[in-house]
Amino acid sequence: MESHHYDLEGLPASVDIFDTILRDGSQQEGLSLTVDDKIKVAEQLDHLGVAYIEGGWPGANPKDTEFFERFHHELTLSTATLVAFGSTRRPGTKAENDAVLQALVEANTEVVCIVAKSWDRHVEEALKTSLDEAVAMVEDSVKFLTSHDKRVFIDAEHFFDGYRENPAFATRILAAGEQAGAECLVLCDTNGGSLPHDITHTIGHVRASITSPAFGIHCHNDAGVAVANSLAAVGAGVTQVQGCINGYGERAGNTDLSAAIPDLSLKLHIQTIPHDRLERLTSVSHHIAELVNQSPASQQPYVGTSVFAHKAGLHASAVAKSKDLYEHIDPTLVGNGTRVVVSEMAGRSTLAMKAEEIGLELDGSVLGGILDDLKTLEHAGYHFEVADGSLELLLRRATGWESDFFTVESYRVVTDHTGDEHGVVLTEATVTVRIGDERFVATAQGNGPVNALDAALRSCIGERFDALQKIRLTDYRVRVLDTGVGTGAVTRVLIDSDDGSRSWTTIGVSENIIEASWLALYDSIVFGLLHASLRPQ
Ligand SMILES: [Zn+2]
Repeated sequence: MESHHYDLEGLPASVDIFDTILRDGSQQEGLSLTVDDKIKVAEQLDHLGVAYIEGGWPGANPKDTEFFERFHHELTLSTATLVAFGSTRRPGTKAENDAVLQALVEANTEVVCIVAKSWDRHVEEALKTSLDEAVAMVEDSVKFLTSHDKRVFIDAEHFFDGYRENPAFATRILAAGEQAGAECLVLCDTNGGSLPHDITHTIGHVRASITSPAFGIHCHNDAGVAVANSLAAVGAGVTQVQGCINGYGERAGNTDLSAAIPDLSLKLHIQTIPHDRLERLTSVSHHIAELVNQSPASQQPYVGTSVFAHKAGLHASAVAKSKDLYEHIDPTLVGNGTRVVVSEMAGRSTLAMKAEEIGLELDGSVLGGILDDLKTLEHAGYHFEVADGSLELLLRRATGWESDFFTVESYRVVTDHTGDEHGVVLTEATVTVRIGDERFVATAQGNGPVNALDAALRSCIGERFDALQKIRLTDYRVRVLDTGVGTGAVTRVLIDSDDGSRSWTTIGVSENIIEASWLALYDSIVFGLLHASLRPQ
């Protein structure tokens, strides 16, 4: 067991980060992970450098059992230790005959974490057993697991609610775990309703009567303060923080470790993950979001794409002079970056900064022209703040640049519905382009107009541009706008694209949804080809 030292203010010098995406985080509505996904998420967590990865509940479902079996064959962790989760023995049975404890032993991990009820009403109403038996269940289970050479953590479920109603019983559960040899007593705010002062107060009392093992904290975000509660717990002497990268979990989620880690490391100067890995935080957060198929939240503290973005003209020019006037940390410390957001509200200085970011030099008259164009286009329904790819092309075109990859002569889309109401819908697109003196025509089918146009364009020019193979469209969003300019509704289409080393968004606006989609698609492909040609070969 690693020991934790305390500095003069009572803050621990280091804290162990315990991620539970693969167990508690997977309780989130709509989040479902295959065994392959779970292995990839574990790899990312280890790459980030967390101390513990809770892998799931072996024996409770076949997927988790398979995960533990495959894990030992397929993964070697560098910094992290794998944890198997389970519960104490059932009431009225012997630990050695308990199937859950047996599965925990067989999961073959060094550490196990078992949940124990610490709220008297849950013991009496849900478990339907006596408080004495609940205490014995903890003792027996910990002794059984330590006799199989396991390091044991106890998740004291509903601890803060339980302590409020019956502090004597909640404390007995902890004491039983301590005496039986548990290494860490994790205090859980299972319903997520506690506030930081409750946490500080309760842990102060608990630590006055129980001193020997380490304490952990496990919070849920139902009151919007899971991270604050976790920090309060560390302030009260806790040395293990449980949660999930990106705060996944049921209801309002678990503690967001993407915020708790930099809070602890950068603000409180407490060792969490290895210091030189903190800059991996943003990419690991986004990578995990992709693996669990959730879009990253742009406003997520530290790692969101908007959290170091600056929009208003005056504000952005001040950022250029002195970043720390408007940023609470240097974003590169967590692998994020300052971003200048350009809209019709932008002043010259914002636009000049954006141009510099791209590597363009624009003189005053060109800048003035671009500002006028931006105003006109935004009035027509464009929204360049969210379309960095199209904005860059707009700035480049203002300098006289024009894409010479290919010239579009025409495109055409046909959608056929055949048969009765259960009939097949087929979409076919034909695209004609010129490359130099040559003319290329291709027809392709797709599951919808954008897909068909994309496929036809690719079959037209694919042989000429190897880079196209890497460019893929990752998202397509449509919004109908009432611009209020007398022409009625227009459609705004946004397309997200990726080439494996960067991602970009392009935009198209038109009264016709196909034309709006085509404009966004065209910019997407041109942007991708342009950056492939700029990249050193
Ligand atoms: Zn939980």
